[in-house]
Amino acid sequence: MDAAKNTVVTIDYTLRDDSGEVLDTSEGREPISFVQGAGNIVPGLEKEIEGKSEGDAFATKIEPKDAYGDHRDDLVFSVNRDQVPVEDLKAGMQLQARTEQGTQLLVVKSVAEESVELDANHPLAGQTLNFDVTVREVREATEDEIEHGHPHDGSESHE
Ligand code: ZN
Repeated sequence: MDAAKNTVVTIDYTLRDDSGEVLDTSEGREPISFVQGAGNIVPGLEKEIEGKSEGDAFATKIEPKDAYGDHRDDLVFSVNRDQVPVEDLKAGMQLQARTEQGTQLLVVKSVAEESVELDANHPLAGQTLNFDVTVREVREATEDEIEHGHPHDGSESHE
């Protein structure tokens, strides 16, 4: 069966940045599953997976515009140090902030005595993503999975 809209695709993958450093991998962990066409994964990878079938292995390079977008300078901002009640605050740390839109991931850019510079861009914004992918399984999605827009493998069970 070929990966197409409303199939559930399971892949093993390794993600590297342009310098070859591994950013994420399913190696040594479970492969990931997603509903094709539901936007569970970045658009560029979804596009590459369309039409692939079980056993296919491929490498692909995905530009920021088809991944997490360009890095936006307007999403970098400073706050007073006392607004971030975290001990041992260091550049590179990731913080979760609660906003009206839900949980927002913030990366600490720099820490000064009285202020902290935060970056609300996705940590992979502006990065070209280099994926090595092996397709493990392609199956039809169930009606529930299509309705929810995500797979129901494993432990998940809900209305
Ligand atoms: Zn669900």
